Amino acid sequence: MSVEAPPEQPLDRTRRRSYILICLGALLTFASLALMTHGAPSEPYAIGAGITLALLVAALMPRLTASRMDALFGWCSDLGAILCIWVVAHNAGPFSAQSLLILSIFLVVWFGVLTSRAAIVRAVLLVAAVALIGALRHPAEPTPVACFAFLALLIGQMTSSGRIIREELSEKAHYANLAMTDMLTGLLNRRALHGALNAHYAGPRSRRGGVGVLLLDLDHFKSINDNYGHDVGDSVLQHVAAVLRACAGPEDQVARWGGEEFLMLTVAADRADLEERATQIIRTLRAIHSGLPPVTVSVGIAHTSEAPDVDSLLRLADRRLYRAKRGGRDRLNKDTLVHLPDQLF
Ligand code: GH3
Ligand code: MG
Ligand code: MG
Repeated sequence: MSVEAPPEQPLDRTRRRSYILICLGALLTFASLALMTHGAPSEPYAIGAGITLALLVAALMPRLTASRMDALFGWCSDLGAILCIWVVAHNAGPFSAQSLLILSIFLVVWFGVLTSRAAIVRAVLLVAAVALIGALRHPAEPTPVACFAFLALLIGQMTSSGRIIREELSEKAHYANLAMTDMLTGLLNRRALHGALNAHYAGPRSRRGGVGVLLLDLDHFKSINDNYGHDVGDSVLQHVAAVLRACAGPEDQVARWGGEEFLMLTVAADRADLEERATQIIRTLRAIHSGLPPVTVSVGIAHTSEAPDVDSLLRLADRRLYRAKRGGRDRLNKDTLVHLPDQLF
């Protein structure tokens, strides 16, 4: 059985920005080094600047994928490091701080874009090359080599810790997202929307108005399961979720509240706004021909101005939903109720 390779990820904005910043930083470094050569050959810096410029152009290309950019950066750093070692080997004097600084930039790039193993191999080779040059040329002066080896160790250690933290954070975000999502419909789940409602009520009173909820329950949904099977029932739930998503405004949140119940937290100045949104959903569901068994919905609404807390708000919406069901389904209940617990249905 052949397994399809996952599609290549495009370069995301944050990484593209950091690549561009690295290139600009490297270009500046090469330019300042070329200016400070004091008569020494500046060709290596020109070559380095040329490679960096090519990388910068690549980083600006909109269709470049993340893995290709990483590979390109890796190859260019290999080339740059070889060039740099060649320059260092041909310089007569002791190791300069500049050359060790440039060499350490390659370490940062390698540990940043390559796998840990590939970066470690390159770092060990680079440190060995510096140690060899040092041993042959200045055996009595081991400090720069020792400093460089320590720097390499530090960069490797810090970058791999950073990588582990990044992976843990993205894993955490992934599981947090899963914990908030309904698996069947991809909508928020009850926990997530309940949290949003609580947060809304916990906010300052002055900013509390302006939202309301729509509690929606599919009509006679059990008969869809009974007549067409559970799988078709699932598809109907997914279809309704898509309709709700399409009807929701950009700041609205929709959740699968329970089996065939949905809750929309929507921006609404007052109850009239909520009624308009509910009517739009009821009409859309009636009108759409999805190829699935037709389904209608009953809706109970409640505006935050009518309820002092989340529980009262949900209870109010639930009572109006119940009345919509009793009133014949496929409708919205507009009764004026109060949130008092002794209010009769
Ligand atoms: P009413 O108009 O009074 O709301 O009637 P109803 O049939 O919609 O309500 P009832 O509470 O009797 O039945 C709800 C059904 O929803 C029963 C349950 O099997 C079904 N259901 C709940 N969750 C799922 C699900 O994830 N997939 C499918 N296919 N069915 C589900
Ligand atoms: Mg129900
Ligand atoms: Mg139902």
